[in-house]
Amino acid sequence: MNIFQKTESEVRTYSRSFPVTFSKAKGAVLTTEDGKEYVDFLAGAGTLNYGHNNEVLKQALIDYISNDGLTHGLDMQSEAKAHFLQTFHDLILAPRGMGDYKVMFTGPTGTNAVEAAMKLARKVKGRSNIISFTNGFHGVSGGALAATGNQHHRGGMGTSLSDVTRMPFDGYLGEGVDTTEYLDKVLSDPSSGVDQPAAVIVETIQGEGGLNAASFEWLRNLEKVCRRHDMLLIVDDIQSGCGRSGRFFSFEEVGIQPDIVTLSKSLSGYGLPFAVTIFRPELDQWSPGEHNGTFRGNNHAFITAAAAFKTFWSDDQFEQEVRHKAEKLRAGLEAIIKAHGAKTLKLKGRGLMSGIECPDGELAGAVTGSAFEQGLVIETSGAHDQVVKCLVPLVLTDEQIEFGLKVLDRAFADALAARERKAS
Ligand SMILES: *Cc1c(COP(=O)(O)O)cnc(C)c1O
Repeated sequence: MNIFQKTESEVRTYSRSFPVTFSKAKGAVLTTEDGKEYVDFLAGAGTLNYGHNNEVLKQALIDYISNDGLTHGLDMQSEAKAHFLQTFHDLILAPRGMGDYKVMFTGPTGTNAVEAAMKLARKVKGRSNIISFTNGFHGVSGGALAATGNQHHRGGMGTSLSDVTRMPFDGYLGEGVDTTEYLDKVLSDPSSGVDQPAAVIVETIQGEGGLNAASFEWLRNLEKVCRRHDMLLIVDDIQSGCGRSGRFFSFEEVGIQPDIVTLSKSLSGYGLPFAVTIFRPELDQWSPGEHNGTFRGNNHAFITAAAAFKTFWSDDQFEQEVRHKAEKLRAGLEAIIKAHGAKTLKLKGRGLMSGIECPDGELAGAVTGSAFEQGLVIETSGAHDQVVKCLVPLVLTDEQIEFGLKVLDRAFADALAARERKAS
């Protein structure tokens, strides 16, 4: 029994899938204490879009620490925070027509950003109900968990989760059914039993829920339903943001204008805990300290986030590279599907948030297990853990994509062969 099994709570998860001890990480490579290397197709569940220990970000952080820059600053003004806000405004928000959005520093996790977004929507609209979607994932604290679909996570609360109405996500009722029509219908019917909501919270590409990518048309219709029924549109871009879709925000290409956006995971760019909730200026109805938290001023994250904006988002070169890599990865996944079961396997997701859906979780688990043995760290997602999910660092090399695809190809072959042996 090792120290983790002996002392760490049974609640641990990823360490069960990857029972080795890592000591170093660089770019898209993880190295164990005994020197074995793994290519990282998990990337901190989408937290390491710029890879592990990016040199530019690391140097900025080292310089800042060496100079005794503030580490913790509550929400006081600091040079580091000014630099973050200016860079975020100039390089991310303003060029995307969001230059007047207000930035709120919530607690350091994604869940904190979601809680703040839901609280603000309820406060502004004076209504408690919020619409969220089947298979959505928004975090595991009380308010955010109410919006999360996953039964396993919901069961952990031990108390009722209320004031959220679940609606079918795009594709939930099969192709050809636009579920926003159902939403529109129940909101137009005073006897539907659905109270008028303050807001809708949605992921444009559901991460934990199985890489379900909403169609652009569905998202545009959702925005229209929001406007028609005076609801705020909250896009939870915690996993799909910061470049993962091929643009900074996952909704940019869609042409919708969310009222509130949550960002976390890759926002610091360095794996440091950091989250913001941003919103239209007229929604900024908080009074001072009405929502607070001790860890809202992670100055180290301000430094690395600003360095990441400058390094990757000063022009559109990085976006183009991400889109090129996404095409390469998705073409490779298509080829695997064609080779191993065009009828039973399905390409999921969008951009570098893509993967392969298997008929069941057992097969997907066998694939990721076999991939790990071959040197690839990769996880599953979805209601039945049935989706093999490639959440690669956006900076991985073409060779690393090719390596991952080769491993997955063999993993599918092995897992399917084992299944056939079992059946016969
Ligand atoms: C990860 C995630 C969260 C929760 O973030 P935590 O930092 O784990 O609290 C919320 N929403 C989405 C879409 C996520 O992927």
